[in-house]
Amino acid sequence: MPIRYYSTNRNLKNVAGITPFTGKVSFKEALLKGQASDEGLFMPDTIPQLSIKDIQKLKGKPYSDTALLVAKAFLADEFPLETLKKVVKDSYNYPVPLEEVKFKTYVMRLDQGPTASFKDFAARMMARLMSNCRPKGERLNILVATSGDTGSAVGEAFKGVGGIDVTILYPTTEVSNMQKKQLDTIGSNVQTLSVDGKFDDCQNLVKQAFSDSDLEKFNLTSANSINFGRILPQIIYYIYAYAQLAEKDEQAIFSVPSGNFGDALGCEYARRMGLPVAKLVMPTNENDEFPIFMATGNYKKVSPSRACISNAMNVGHPSNLARFFELYGGTVDRVGQVHKYPNLEEMRQHIFSVSITDKQTRETIKNVYKDYHVILEQHGAVGWAGLFEYFKTAPEEKLAICLETAHPAKFPEEIQKLLGLTIPLPESLKNLDQRKGSAVSITSDFNDFKKYLQKNLKIKE
Ligand SMILES: *Cc1c(COP(=O)(O)O)cnc(C)c1O
Repeated sequence: MPIRYYSTNRNLKNVAGITPFTGKVSFKEALLKGQASDEGLFMPDTIPQLSIKDIQKLKGKPYSDTALLVAKAFLADEFPLETLKKVVKDSYNYPVPLEEVKFKTYVMRLDQGPTASFKDFAARMMARLMSNCRPKGERLNILVATSGDTGSAVGEAFKGVGGIDVTILYPTTEVSNMQKKQLDTIGSNVQTLSVDGKFDDCQNLVKQAFSDSDLEKFNLTSANSINFGRILPQIIYYIYAYAQLAEKDEQAIFSVPSGNFGDALGCEYARRMGLPVAKLVMPTNENDEFPIFMATGNYKKVSPSRACISNAMNVGHPSNLARFFELYGGTVDRVGQVHKYPNLEEMRQHIFSVSITDKQTRETIKNVYKDYHVILEQHGAVGWAGLFEYFKTAPEEKLAICLETAHPAKFPEEIQKLLGLTIPLPESLKNLDQRKGSAVSITSDFNDFKKYLQKNLKIKE
């Protein structure tokens, strides 16, 4: 039976403003649609299983071998094997270092991709899968609204990918100079629009474009973080790390610094596919809605979200919480309203969550450097601190792997202040000054945006 995808909102029959989508779609449809018509998130109706032997065979093999195993498990019905092989080869052409920091405790650095963020892993594979499922002879046009980092990961991921053009909208006054430079100079098939407005205005423009019938012919698609096509690639590195490091079939602990919970969800699926995960540790920053829920059983989003130094995790209601609730038998919607609580005992068995303050985060960066000469940036430090909070509750010795989700050189001020060090930028972020390219300026009026799209987007390949 091929895997089909259903909506997390399918059971919300008597909720105002929601018409539940009760059908199922293929992976390709879920990939191109992004989310279900009822604003629910797509979920696979079966989770493919891997044997421990399959996993152990990946030891010493390149990352793309693990990627192919996972891709085949989910996608073999919908894509030819040759296509999947090419997709993973092209997506993963950079290293994935596993550093032993202390006995049996590792940092996995997911910061070697083109934008030095773990988001490269998901965005690159999704881009290449999309290129392979567009209508024959036609182009796809991706629209992305960004407030900074996600936009460049998505833009870089699609750069040079056949049959797809990307238009990125960002608020002129809300992105840093470095972010603007990174976005405007991607070039090739990626164009930026600098919008005279706020991030919300950018999001609204994109939303309106999707529902405008004059623009239908352009095959408009989103590439946002709730797309299942971005979750699937995030299953891979857990299996990869385990295969490289585990002895026999021992269990491993993963610590995943969490914001919208897409990264941690990858680990949850990996465990359900058969990976021996002892515990999924999900530390958050001071946006503590989830750790409080795990402690009390009551969920209340943090609104507005709190501004912490691990700024990619400043999320007051994680978009992928709906998928976690669904996997444990509950339902929560897009705005944070709980319709059915999940099985809390079962969640506690598999997941540990804790809130880490900015003060703890800074101390962790200092201590890890002092004790082990290992440099973490603030997101990875939340992960490390969370892991040690977990060890306080479960002291037995196990293989543990903490994810570092960004390169420390992306946060020069913080690292300089805490460690007195200047870290060289990775190749991909060097020479930014010499890169060329510029944004097109538009107002936040939809007609202005629509005119731009009609004049500039292409329909045919
Ligand atoms: C996006 C991001 C996170 C959080 O990942 P989620 O999948 O949203 O939980 C953590 N660290 C960095 C550097 C990020 O960019």
